[in-house]
Amino acid sequence: MFGSKYKLYIDGKWVNSNSGQTFSSLNPAKPKQVLGRFQKGNENDVEKAVEAAEKAFDSWSDITAPKRGLILLKVAELLKKNKEKLAKLVTREMGKVIAEARGDVQEAIDMAEYIAGEGRRLFGHTTPSELRNKMCMTIRMPVGIFGLITPWNFPLAVPAWKIFPALICGNTIVFKPSSDTPLCATKMVEILGMAGLPKGVVNLVTGPGGSVGMSIVKHRKIRGISFTGSKFTGETIVKEAGLKKVGLEMGGKNGIIVMDDANLVLASDGVIWGGYGTTGQRCTAASRVIVHEKIKEKFEMMLVQRIKKLRLGDGLKSTTDVGPLVNKAAQEKSMNYVEIGLRDGAKILIGGRIPKMKGFFFEPTLFTNCTIDMRIAQEEIFGPIVSLIPVKDFDEAIDAMNSVEYGLSSAIYTEDIRKAFLAIQHIEAGLTYVNSSTIGSEVHLPFGGVKHTGHAREAGIEGINEFSETKTVYVDYSGRLQKAQIDIT
Ligand code: NDP
Repeated sequence: MFGSKYKLYIDGKWVNSNSGQTFSSLNPAKPKQVLGRFQKGNENDVEKAVEAAEKAFDSWSDITAPKRGLILLKVAELLKKNKEKLAKLVTREMGKVIAEARGDVQEAIDMAEYIAGEGRRLFGHTTPSELRNKMCMTIRMPVGIFGLITPWNFPLAVPAWKIFPALICGNTIVFKPSSDTPLCATKMVEILGMAGLPKGVVNLVTGPGGSVGMSIVKHRKIRGISFTGSKFTGETIVKEAGLKKVGLEMGGKNGIIVMDDANLVLASDGVIWGGYGTTGQRCTAASRVIVHEKIKEKFEMMLVQRIKKLRLGDGLKSTTDVGPLVNKAAQEKSMNYVEIGLRDGAKILIGGRIPKMKGFFFEPTLFTNCTIDMRIAQEEIFGPIVSLIPVKDFDEAIDAMNSVEYGLSSAIYTEDIRKAFLAIQHIEAGLTYVNSSTIGSEVHLPFGGVKHTGHAREAGIEGINEFSETKTVYVDYSGRLQKAQIDIT
C-alpha cells in the first residue's frame, strides 16, 4: 500500500525528474514506514515547469473568472468525496491527530468553495474623476506565473490558501511543497487534474528547498512568489527574489494573556488547545502564556492537571491527544530548547523529555517563571513547549505580548470589556482573539502577521490582492484634451 514512487506534474503529465534521484516521505509516528518515494527535482525541472506555465497562461487567464471558479467547485467536491482518505494521509505524513487532520482537509474545501464565489466578485473600484465627462476605475489583472512554496504543517490547507486564489485571479503556477509532506501535495495536484484544470496551469516540482525552491525564487519569468515557512527561509527568499511580487507568511511567538478576572477554565482550554494542539506545530500556536501574578499559582495547577491527562500517540488512534513532531530534527530542537530554558533559569512544571516511544514524540512541556528576555520566550520552538510569563498588571501584559520580533496571533482572556478593547488596539499582531485561543482562522477573513512574521495577507478579499495586480483605468468621453491637475477651474 505504501512506498510507491511518485512523479512530478509538468504540462499535465506525470514525469520523472532528470536528476534520476528520489527521496522518501516517512510517517513520524512510525519512522520505519516509508509513505512514498518522490522525485528529487532540480533546476531543469523548474525550467520545464515554467515553460509549461508560460504556455498555459494566455488561455487560462482568458477564461472568465466565474468559469475558473466552476473548476474550483469541482475541486471542492472531490476533496469532500475523499475527505476521510485525505485526513488519514495528513495524519500519516505529518502526525497531527485525525480530528485536526480532518480540519486540514475541511479548510481546503472551505477555501475552494469560498474562492470559487470570489470569481464573481473580483471587484475593482469606480470613483468620480476631478474632471467632467471622465470616468475612473480599477480592474484586477493576473500577475503571471506564480511560484508557490509551502511548509508541512498544514499540508493541504496552506497549498489550498495559495493555489485557489492564484487560480481564480488567472495566474499559472509552479508549486514546490515541503519535502516532509510531498504525498499530500501530490494528492492535491491529482485532484486539480481530475477536476479538469487545463494542462500547464498548475505544475508540481518536488525536491529540496535550496535547489528547487531557490530556482523558483530566482527565475526571471516567475512574476510572483508566495511563501509560507520559517523566518530564516523567508529572509533568504527576500534577498534572492529580485523585483518580483513577494508574499511572506512566516513564524510566530504567539501569546495568550490571562488576566486576574478571566474565566480560568475557559483560559486553560485555550492554552491547552493553542499550546499543544498539532503538537505546538502551528504558526499560530500559543507558546507564551502571559499570566497575572494574582492567579498564577492557581492557573499553573490547573494547567498541570490538564497536561497530565494528554495522551501521546499515533494520531490515527481516536484516544490520542498529541501526535509526534514532524521529524527527528524537530524532536532534537525541542530538547535543545528545554536545556536552554533551564540554563536561562526557567522552571519546568511538567514534561521536558523525549518519551520512550517509537516515533518523534515529545512530552507536552510547561515552563514557568519565564522572563521576556529568555530565549524560550522569544524564539519560535515549533514544539509542545509553553512558557508562562508572570506579570503584575495589564500594561505589563501588553508590553510582554509585544516584546517579540513576531506578530502573528494573540489572545486575551478577561471579563473586562475595557481591557479587551485596549488589548485589541495595542497588541502588535495580525490576529487578536478575545476569550478564545490563538487558533481558529476562517477562510473568509484575512490571515497574516506584522513585524517579522511578514506582511502578506491570505484568505478573505485581502488574499485576492496577494495574487492580482490592480490596473487603474481612465476613460475620457469629453471629446477634448483634459489635463488633470492643470484644468482646475
Ligand atoms: P521552512 O522555512 O523550513 O520551509 C518552508 C518551505 O520552504 C519548504 O517547502 C522548504 O523546502 C522551502 N525552502 C527551504 N529552503 C528554501 C530556500 N533556500 N529557497 C526556497 N525555498 C526553500 O519551514 P517549515 O516547512 O519547517 O515550516 C514551519 C515554519 O512555517 C514555521 O516557522 C511556521 O511558523 C511557518 N508557518 C507560517 C504560517 C503563516 O501563515 N504565517 C503558517 C504555517 C507555517 P524543503 O521542505 O525542501 O526544505
